Amino acid sequence: MMKYQSFIGLEVHIHLLTKSKAFCSCRAAFGDEPNSNVCPVCMGYPGVLPALNGEAMRMGAVVARALNCTLSPKTWFERKQYFYPDMPKNYQISQFASPLGVDGWVDIPAGGGGPASSAAGTATKRIRIKECHLEEDAGKMIHAGNVSLVDYNRAGTSLLEIVTEPDFETGAEAECYVQQLRRTVRYLGVCDGNMEEGSLRCDANVSVNLRGQGLGSKVEIKNLNSSRFVRLGLDYEIERQVALVEKGGMVRQETRLWNENRDQTETMRVKESSNDYRFFPEPDLPPFSADAGFISSVEAGLVELPFDRERRVGSEFGLSREQVTIVCEERAFADYFEAAVAEAERLGMDKKVAAERVAIWMTGELKRVMNRDGLGAADVGALKVTGARLAAIVALVASGRISGKIARQLFDAALVEEAEPADIVAARGWELVVDPARIAAAVEEAIAAEPSAFSGAAAATAGGDVGKARTLSAFLVGKAIGASGGKAEPGLVKAAVEARVTAAATAL
Ligand code: ADP
Ligand code: ZN
Ligand code: MG
Repeated sequence: MMKYQSFIGLEVHIHLLTKSKAFCSCRAAFGDEPNSNVCPVCMGYPGVLPALNGEAMRMGAVVARALNCTLSPKTWFERKQYFYPDMPKNYQISQFASPLGVDGWVDIPAGGGGPASSAAGTATKRIRIKECHLEEDAGKMIHAGNVSLVDYNRAGTSLLEIVTEPDFETGAEAECYVQQLRRTVRYLGVCDGNMEEGSLRCDANVSVNLRGQGLGSKVEIKNLNSSRFVRLGLDYEIERQVALVEKGGMVRQETRLWNENRDQTETMRVKESSNDYRFFPEPDLPPFSADAGFISSVEAGLVELPFDRERRVGSEFGLSREQVTIVCEERAFADYFEAAVAEAERLGMDKKVAAERVAIWMTGELKRVMNRDGLGAADVGALKVTGARLAAIVALVASGRISGKIARQLFDAALVEEAEPADIVAARGWELVVDPARIAAAVEEAIAAEPSAFSGAAAATAGGDVGKARTLSAFLVGKAIGASGGKAEPGLVKAAVEARVTAAATAL
């Protein structure tokens, strides 16, 4: 057993996808013209009155419930005082004494690592969620040379802070949690999870101690703007703290930054004493009571979460682990899959066969073109090839009306044309030829063009040289399909060629 024990607690801030800010009606959007979404309320002018955005409360509560938190029946807001140029009011409206959700938990794969797995039998580790509380974001400082600019568009936008207990032990576990949380909030449709744009931000608290001695003196790491940096920063910091303690030193309680260019954490500020934020109840906002209507709107927002969906999709449709992982990566992608399979079933296909075919298309060709076009799995709904249209393509192949090769052409056409696959096939004359007379004509054309292959096949059949007979017949089948312009149904051509060869062999 290792001599030291590490403790990690994460504070993740997510930007809720509300249309307006948390306490005023300004637009909440990333990337707008700086300082265009501001008003007296979010700029903290004297005498203005904030008003709570109910949608922010609902979205926050949906996340809290998805993380198994208990919703507080009554919550209120406090003012947290501090002074910084990105905070026009000189206080932040936050929740201190009555977070909207408390005492939750989530399970992560034990040890973290790899894509979080839903496979049965995978050991999980339970991470306690201390609380989720709603607050407003600050503006954004841009430091350019010797000037600093500030954009207040973000000031007052709704932020949910999700705080865990110090239950992680490694960077890999923390990374896994962040990825899982990101996926969860995307599934819930309450946050886009974009870490580069700051829609999901993570501060990590970490301490080490001799095993069995409890929590150590904690260091907070900021500036972790990717889940990979969460892992790297924490692993670096654990190593640094252990080395320090090994040398007889003490870990100083401080805030450090992850320097992604030097792959190390560096001191940002040392906490001499704990901050005094002088919290007091926000006098301009009444307490919020979660009534029955609110609770039911929250429950309605609780979609099937990624792990549950993976588990169900895996067993209900019989997909492989890899397929499940890709299909369920984003809710829209999983919805697309299920819609396609349902439609294929309606078109008469067996469910598992349909699921297998649809999954192959989605994890192969569909993914390929979406990557090519710079689309993520969540954008699948924007394609002209809807789930129902993919199902139609799959069903056309299954019924033998088009070949696998034509199916790919059809898929490419369906990507750019707003048309039903069956109509595209009809318009282009892509349907396979199944008419016996036309099949026979194609076969005769091939025999006439390759008389020695035909007589060779007949002789090999008569002489019992099965391998040679098969090779020559396959050659003739290829020629016959070619003679039909690639449109003769291969199974029927094969049967026709074999019948002709057998007849010729018997006559020898
Ligand atoms: P603060 O008052 O400094 O904000 P909190 O008690 O609110 O500290 O905890 C913030 C985060 O730090 C939580 O995620 C918590 O789990 C974690 N944490 C607290 N103490 C420690 C510690 N000694 N070691 C590691 N993490 C800790
Ligand atoms: Zn405003
Ligand atoms: Mg705290």
